[in-house]
Amino acid sequence: MTIDDHRTEFAAAARAFARDRLAAGALERAHAHGYPWDVAQLLADQGLLGLTIPERDGGQGGTLLDAVTAIQEVGMVCPKSADVVQAGNFGALRTFAEYASDEQKARFLPGFLAGTALLGLAMSEPEAGSAVTDLTTSAMREGDDYVVDGTKIWSTHSVEATVYLVYVRFGPGVSGIGSVLVERGTPGLEIGKPSTYLSGEDWAELRFDGCRIPAENVLLGPGGFKRQISGFNVERLGNAARSLALGRLAFTTAREHVLARRQFGRPLAEFQGIQWKFADMALALDSAQLLLDRAAGGAVDGLPSAYDTSVAKLAANRAGFLAADQSLQVMGAMGYSTETLVEYCFRRTRGWMIAGGSTEILQNRIAEEVLGRRFSQRVAR
Ligand SMILES: Cc1cc2nc3c(=O)[nH]c(=O)nc-3n(C[C@H](O)[C@H](O)[C@H](O)COP(=O)(O)OP(=O)(O)OC[C@H]3O[C@@H](n4cnc5c(N)ncnc54)[C@H](O)[C@@H]3O)c2cc1C
Repeated sequence: MTIDDHRTEFAAAARAFARDRLAAGALERAHAHGYPWDVAQLLADQGLLGLTIPERDGGQGGTLLDAVTAIQEVGMVCPKSADVVQAGNFGALRTFAEYASDEQKARFLPGFLAGTALLGLAMSEPEAGSAVTDLTTSAMREGDDYVVDGTKIWSTHSVEATVYLVYVRFGPGVSGIGSVLVERGTPGLEIGKPSTYLSGEDWAELRFDGCRIPAENVLLGPGGFKRQISGFNVERLGNAARSLALGRLAFTTAREHVLARRQFGRPLAEFQGIQWKFADMALALDSAQLLLDRAAGGAVDGLPSAYDTSVAKLAANRAGFLAADQSLQVMGAMGYSTETLVEYCFRRTRGWMIAGGSTEILQNRIAEEVLGRRFSQRVAR
């Protein structure tokens, strides 16, 4: 079987599963708060969690392209369920699986892969957003333990996660940055009052105040930052894939609408002003898909290159949002209302232009590659 045949067959199976098991509650799930643990179990039973994790670690032993295919097929049917595919394949879990010790894998992976535990990524801080290496949350060695102090904000699943992968500073400079695992309920970790994004997703401040963890919970010690970002490129492709899936979902919903809805005595689809919007959406979605496939297909040992990832995420974030925005427009008040998923796709795709490396930070990264120079964003000392 060729790679293309495999992908077609795998996509068809994921699509059939999504239509059969996830389509019915998709609209309701999009507006519900909280993590859909029932969907996590369903996806685990279907073998859609841990797709790229080796079989010896309890995963499916598939490729990054398989994971992209799965998240898109699920996302085009039920956007909220695609977040579970993200958490179980692309998010902090992928970084964890790449760098965890055998003992850490034995302790945490079974729950993550069974859909009964959830890993959140705690990287951003009040004074360290795009400038993530300015983070100040510290982990200081005390005997056999580390004591974590600091504050994290904006984390996806921060309200429900059972474990947090926390970027910390063991010492000064970029080389002092690494990461630790902190379990929910650890004394010294306080989870703040939930707040809500435009998308309806909840997040909560994570406050670490003398939070003591065993040394076995260090994932990557000092010097681990570069490796964490390699793992984070996978997370970025998950964001890109969902941007395109939700853009495509809005696009297909709008396509049906304009073929059926009549104004001035004819279907909306017969107006050229509407047709050209679809042409622009198709161009944006299809071209971004090729870039996403290039990034995922070209991954070495499951990790995509920084350049391919940046180009793919930038194109997909723009295309997904453009498609959701234009789909909403051609559907008029129906697009703007909660009768369909289109307005939700609009709100969600907007967030991915900020999350996981904003579009501007991606542009900076691409420009450096193109010009063959590194441009520090910091004030010269
Ligand atoms: C939906 C969502 C989910 C998220 N999930 C997580 C998560 O799970 N874990 C986590 O740790 N964080 C998460 N974040 C936070 C996210 O990583 C940050 O929002 C992002 O890094 C940007 O940081 P900031 O919001 O502080 O914006 P800032 O860094 O303050 O930037 C503000 C604006 O300035 C632009 N800008 C900044 N620097 C430059 C520059 N050098 N050149 C050009 N433009 C620049 C930015 O692109 C942006 O448009 C999430 C955010 C969102 C919206």
